[in-house]
Amino acid sequence: MERDRLRRPREPARLRPARLRQPRPVGSEGGAVSAGHSPRTGAGRAPDVFERGGWVTMREYGDDEPVDFAIVGAGAGGATLACKLAEAGFSVVVLEAGPFWRPLEDFASDEEAQQQLYWLDERLSGGADALALGGNNSGWGVGGSTVHFSMISLRFRPDWFQSRSRLGYGVDWPITYEELAPYYDEAERALAVSGPVRYPWGPPRRRYPYREHEMNAAGLVLARGAENMGIPWASVPLATVSAPRGKSPPCVYRGFCNFGCATNAKQSALIVWIPRALAAGAEVRDLAMAGRIELGQDGRAQGIHYRRGDQWRFQRARNVVVSGYAIETPRLLLNSACNRFPHGLANGSGLVGTHLTTHAGPGMWARFDEEIRWYKGPPNMAVCEHWNYTDTGKDFHGGYAFMSQGPLPRAWAQLLVTEKNLWGAALRREMRDYNHMAGLVAVAETEPRACNRVELADVRDRHGLPVAHVTFAYSDNDRRMQDHARRFMGAMLEAAGGHDVWTSDDTSHILGTCRMGSDRATSVVNADGRSWDVPNLWICDGSLFPTAGGVNPSLTIQALACRMGARIRTLAARGEL
Ligand SMILES: Cc1cc2nc3c(=O)[nH]c(=O)nc-3n(C[C@H](O)[C@H](O)[C@H](O)COP(=O)(O)OP(=O)(O)OC[C@H]3O[C@@H](n4cnc5c(N)ncnc54)[C@H](O)[C@@H]3O)c2cc1C
Ligand code: SF4
Repeated sequence: MERDRLRRPREPARLRPARLRQPRPVGSEGGAVSAGHSPRTGAGRAPDVFERGGWVTMREYGDDEPVDFAIVGAGAGGATLACKLAEAGFSVVVLEAGPFWRPLEDFASDEEAQQQLYWLDERLSGGADALALGGNNSGWGVGGSTVHFSMISLRFRPDWFQSRSRLGYGVDWPITYEELAPYYDEAERALAVSGPVRYPWGPPRRRYPYREHEMNAAGLVLARGAENMGIPWASVPLATVSAPRGKSPPCVYRGFCNFGCATNAKQSALIVWIPRALAAGAEVRDLAMAGRIELGQDGRAQGIHYRRGDQWRFQRARNVVVSGYAIETPRLLLNSACNRFPHGLANGSGLVGTHLTTHAGPGMWARFDEEIRWYKGPPNMAVCEHWNYTDTGKDFHGGYAFMSQGPLPRAWAQLLVTEKNLWGAALRREMRDYNHMAGLVAVAETEPRACNRVELADVRDRHGLPVAHVTFAYSDNDRRMQDHARRFMGAMLEAAGGHDVWTSDDTSHILGTCRMGSDRATSVVNADGRSWDVPNLWICDGSLFPTAGGVNPSLTIQALACRMGARIRTLAARGEL
C-alpha cells in the first residue's frame, strides 16, 4: 500500500488555490517568500562570509540584460559551476531560493534553530519505501546542502563509471574515471581536503592537500573492529581544514557540522566557491525562487521566471543551468512544460524525474563499557570501503561504504523515538547511555530504476508552484545489500567489544533524476550536462548521476561541475555554445 506523507513547511502550509496552474510570471503576489528572511544580496554587495556584518562588492545585472549563464541553485553543483564560469570570463547570475547565510552569525550550537538550513518546503513522498524528505537530504540557501553536510569527500571507484560493462550491473556513465580524475584533483585542492597520506582503496593518487585529522574515539571503534576482522580502514578525507587556511581557522572538533560550521573550518560551497565566484564578477541573488524556464520559438531557453520579494520577475539569459538538487531540478523542468515539451522541458526522452537513486543508510548501534563521547569531532571520521572494492563473497550487485558515527543528542533521541519507539522514562534511561554508544552507518548504492521518480503533485507551495511527489521502493538487490551491510557492521561492532547491538533504517543523498548519457533516447543530458533537446539548457548537480556508487556524492558533483566549466569554455572557444 502506498504511504504518502506530506512534509510540512517551516510555517503552516499556505497553499495556493488549485486554479493557479502555473506561476504568474510577472507582477506581485501576496504571501511571504522568505519565511522570516530578507534578501541580503543587492545594492552592489553580498555578505562577507568571513567577517561578522561585513560585505564584499558584487556586480549586478538587470533582468533585461541577457547574461551568459543564469544558474538555478547555489549548492555543490551550482556554486562550483558559477565560480568556474565567472573565472572563465562569462557573465553569471545565480538564483538561489534560500538566504545568503552568514556563518559567524547564523550558525549556532542549537540543533532546533539550525533546522532552518534545510529545505523544509512541502514535498510529497510515496511508494513502498517512501523516503523521509527533510534535513536528511537537502539544503536551502547559498551553499546548498554543503552548508550542513558532513564533509566526507570520497572519490568514486573507477569501475563504477562503467559499472554495466565492467561489473555487470547498473548503467555506464558517458565519461570515464580518467576523464574526471584531474577535476577530482581540482575539487580536492579547492576544498583543501584533509586526508590520510595513503588511502587504502582506489588507484594511486596524490596526497590530500591537508594532513588527516586526529581520529576521535568513535572512529577508533571502527578501527579496532576492522583490525580485529583483518580488513583495512582509513581516516575519512574531510573538507574541513586540519590547519589554518586563508581566513579559515582549523577545525575545533565541536561536532556541529551537520548544522552549519560557525568556525568556518568547513570548506563548504558557501565559503569556497561563492567568494571566488563573486570576486570573478558573478552575481548571487538570494531568496530568489525559480518557477519556470521560458522556451523561445527558436527552441532555445530565453531565461527564467523567478520570485523575489513579492515580485515575479524574468531574468534573460543566453544559457540556463539547473542546479537545484535531484528533487527540485526535475521539478523545475516539469513545471516548465510548454507546447513543444508538454511533458516537461527537455523531456523528449520521457526520463526527466525517473531513475531516482538514493543511498540506503542502515545503521548498527552498540553500547560500549568505556566512555566514547561520540559527539566530539566531525560526525564521521573513520571509513571502511571494503565492500566497494571487493567483488567476491557478495549476494548483491553494487557496493557500500560505512563510517563511524557521532549524532548530537537531539538527533540521537529522535532516532531512539522513531526506531526503538522509546518514550518517557525508557527514553531517558537509554539517553543516559549516550556517552557509551558507538555506531556504523552504511552509504549503500541503490539500483537506478525508472519506477523510482519525481513527479508533480496537485499540492502547491507558498509560491503557487506544484510541489514534487517522490516515489521510491527498494529492489530485491537493494534489500540484500542492506542485509549484508547490517550483518557485517554488526559483526564489526562486536569485534570491537560492543554489546546490545541493534539496527535502524535511513537513507541519504538523492541522485540521478536527469541522468547523463551517450544516447539521447536513454538520458536527459550528454556528458557535458547539456540537454539533448534544448541546446542552451544545462544541468549541473547530483541529478546527473546515472548510478549512485557506494560513497557520498558531493566531491563527484563538484568534480563534474569543474569539468563542465572547462568543457563550456572549450565549446565557447569553438563557437559551439
Ligand atoms: C545532513 C547531510 C549531510 C551530508 N553529508 C555529506 C557528506 O559528508 N559528503 C557528501 O559528499 N555529501 C553529503 N551530503 C549530500 C550533499 O551535501 C549533496 O549530495 C550535495 O550538496 C548535492 O548537491 P546539489 O548541487 O545536487 O544540490 P544542493 O547542494 O542541495 O544545492 C541545491 C540548491 O538549489 C537551491 N534551489 C532548489 N530549487 C531552487 C529553485 N527552484 N530556485 C532557486 N534555487 C533553488 C536550493 O535552495 C539549494 O541551495 C549530505 C547531505 C545532508 C543533508
Ligand atoms: S567540528 Fe570542525 S567542521 Fe564541524 S562544526 Fe566544528 S569546527 Fe566546523
